[in-house]
Amino acid sequence: MNLLNIDQLDEDSLRRVLDRSRHWLDVNRQRERPSPGPLDGRIVLNLFYENSTRTLMSFETAAHRLGADVMSLPVAHSSVKKGETLEDTGRTLNAMRPDVLVIRHPENGAPARIADVLDCPVINAGDGTNQHPTQALLDAATLMSRFGRIEGLKIAICGDIKHSRVARSNAELLPRLGAEVRLAGPPSLMPDDVATCGSVDEAVAGADVVMMLRVQRERMEDDLGDAPGEYLERYGLTRERLRKAAPHVAVMHPGPMNRGVEIADDVADNKDRSLIWLQVEMGVAVRMACLELLAGTRD
Ligand code: ASP
Repeated sequence: MNLLNIDQLDEDSLRRVLDRSRHWLDVNRQRERPSPGPLDGRIVLNLFYENSTRTLMSFETAAHRLGADVMSLPVAHSSVKKGETLEDTGRTLNAMRPDVLVIRHPENGAPARIADVLDCPVINAGDGTNQHPTQALLDAATLMSRFGRIEGLKIAICGDIKHSRVARSNAELLPRLGAEVRLAGPPSLMPDDVATCGSVDEAVAGADVVMMLRVQRERMEDDLGDAPGEYLERYGLTRERLRKAAPHVAVMHPGPMNRGVEIADDVADNKDRSLIWLQVEMGVAVRMACLELLAGTRD
């Protein structure tokens, strides 16, 4: 079993991941890690071809907490730089008999390609602009922990939708759990295949949750051409814009944040509204739940 796209998780597995995330969140707040660990003696390999802070460190932390032996390939110093193909790197790592491989890659579909040559489960930790299933799961688990439900929540996802695998995975998962998802951003950053709900202001109006997305300049061919402060003013989450949301609104961001671009400092740092650091903590719990679900399914 692999976790490449969010829609690969059936209802049972989805419920199980969300339930177990709650369990692991509580366990992780205690000092001792579980012993024996559910992944004692298992090997988890991380293969990250793109930069990462939260996802890489939380997969490492999650695997350690479960008792696994964890290794992360420093791709910049590996034979990838000598021209080795993705498939041959996959075959090489497969010969070391890992129990789970976690991959992040700039190309859409790369996790599926490597999964074809591996005998162990593969988890997609983000591929290009395509999918980031564990991010959507941690966002759902964070919402469950804040609101006790997802059913009926109005969730505005705003910003650079075009380049966001986070938006794609969330736009599949959250409606499945009963939320109303509104996608909005600058017209040049809205993909053709996605229905927009209007402007960012319209999306935020009355929303229970506003999830801001990073402007992914590294994936753009041309610069946005915005003057300093212009993006924030027109499309970003400022205190004034947030006032249009429901009074109990929660603010989310998958990180890393471009402060002063898609989100204002005082919104990001508003302790009553922001779930941003809870998202990071939940990332460890959700990835523990995913590793637990998949680790036993090696061929
Ligand atoms: N960290 C998230 C991702 O890898 C979001 C971002 O980079 O903006 O997709």
